[in-house]
Amino acid sequence: MTAVPDTRIPSGSVQPAPFPVGHLPVATGSEAGRGRRVVWKFGGTSIGDADRLRAVATRLIAARRQGLQVVAVLSAKGGATDDLVSLAHKVSPKPHPRELDALLAVGESTSCALAAIAIHELGERAVSLTGPQAGIYTDDSHGNARLQRVSPERVVEALEQDMIVLVTGFQGVSANGDITTLGRGGSDASAVALASALGLRECDIFTDVPGVFTADPRVVPGAQKLDSLSHYEMLQLADAGARVLQTRAVELAAAHDIDIHVRSSFTCDAGTRVHRGKPMLEEARVCGVAHLHHDPLYTVTGVSSAAVSAALARRDMAIGSIICCEGEVQFTAPGTTPVRLVAALGAMDAGVAVRDELGSVSVVSMTGGNQPGTITTALSALERSGITVHLVACTPNRVSCHVPATDVDRAAQALHDAFGLHELAGAIATGGVPTAQEKPSHA
Ligand code: ADP
Ligand code: ASP
Ligand code: MG
Repeated sequence: MTAVPDTRIPSGSVQPAPFPVGHLPVATGSEAGRGRRVVWKFGGTSIGDADRLRAVATRLIAARRQGLQVVAVLSAKGGATDDLVSLAHKVSPKPHPRELDALLAVGESTSCALAAIAIHELGERAVSLTGPQAGIYTDDSHGNARLQRVSPERVVEALEQDMIVLVTGFQGVSANGDITTLGRGGSDASAVALASALGLRECDIFTDVPGVFTADPRVVPGAQKLDSLSHYEMLQLADAGARVLQTRAVELAAAHDIDIHVRSSFTCDAGTRVHRGKPMLEEARVCGVAHLHHDPLYTVTGVSSAAVSAALARRDMAIGSIICCEGEVQFTAPGTTPVRLVAALGAMDAGVAVRDELGSVSVVSMTGGNQPGTITTALSALERSGITVHLVACTPNRVSCHVPATDVDRAAQALHDAFGLHELAGAIATGGVPTAQEKPSHA
């Protein structure tokens, strides 16, 4: 996943500092209610150092003292998982997947144990539980394990003993007792799965931005925070690269009817509700732009598309877009790396060319993605900006364009401008998002 330099955070849209340690923030209306259970997930930046970890501990204690039963799902601190991955690769170019999972799980375990220690220090009761201890069962696909069942008996027991319960995100356990991990960004999925297993209808995901924006606010300075959007829309944004929520977590939320409240770790403000409602169908509404800084295009000659697809499926890799033309199969496979992909195709007697220097930008528009106006607006905006488009894929829900990686940020900005998204204060919650043709008159 591409790192975004912090220097690009536009002032005013991202809160840089946590609230002061020692200040007990008052829970907002939706958090109030004695005895009510909540599942709150905190991402890597939110617990990036001792002060931020204490600030999270303080927030959890405030909620507990207001009578809530609190389950906090924690990620590894920012950068910790990447560091563990590169450590493993220093020892072996191809670390054994089982052992890699055992190693990666350490990041989340560290966060939870430290948070429990911080909470004890501040005078409240807390217990940290690993994925296996919290009853998060998965299959045995190490590195990208699928959730199979959550049996949260120990979580419930600890809540009933008035403890704050800290559960490691990202981790599960397979049927034979081995530690597994849920794919990058997988703590979001852990939180949604736990919320569902505890019978909740919502889950709060605290992160380093105030909510879901019409584009990544680090890349597009005029991006607007959305008050709410549907699971369907969020799924498309996440799948096209909006990493604020993991795609699988949104899928789980949609399947189990869980609303996700994406909000800032650093304030008590309301964020964005990703909800069960349906988007307004039959209207070409654009809800945002998403990007991937790295989204290679692969070309294979001399084999059929079915053979390519089967070879990838055997390694649990999915094709994004695919074109077959005159003996050539061209395709994308977001979510995997060129090294893994070439290895998967290795057994076939076929040459693979990798266009590694490409990224992608997508406009998400439920039902508008394959309408002529949406496609034309997108392609014209990129052309006006002098950006070469290498591949366009249109579905009813989005238009995705492969462009040079070095142009991805400019392309995201150009699409955001072309669809008037910078003018969408409150966006969907305040009466809908305009179509490409119909820009709003309000700011
Ligand atoms: P966490 O560590 O809390 O899980 P992530 O880094 O996974 O946080 O996700 C938050 C980041 O997602 C933000 O810092 C932001 O740069 C990025 N992002 C990408 N697209 C969007 C979007 N549409 N809205 C908000 N944030 C976005
Ligand atoms: N620590 C894991 C990652 O960096 C999981 C997560 O943060 O959600 O991908
Ligand atoms: Mg994340």
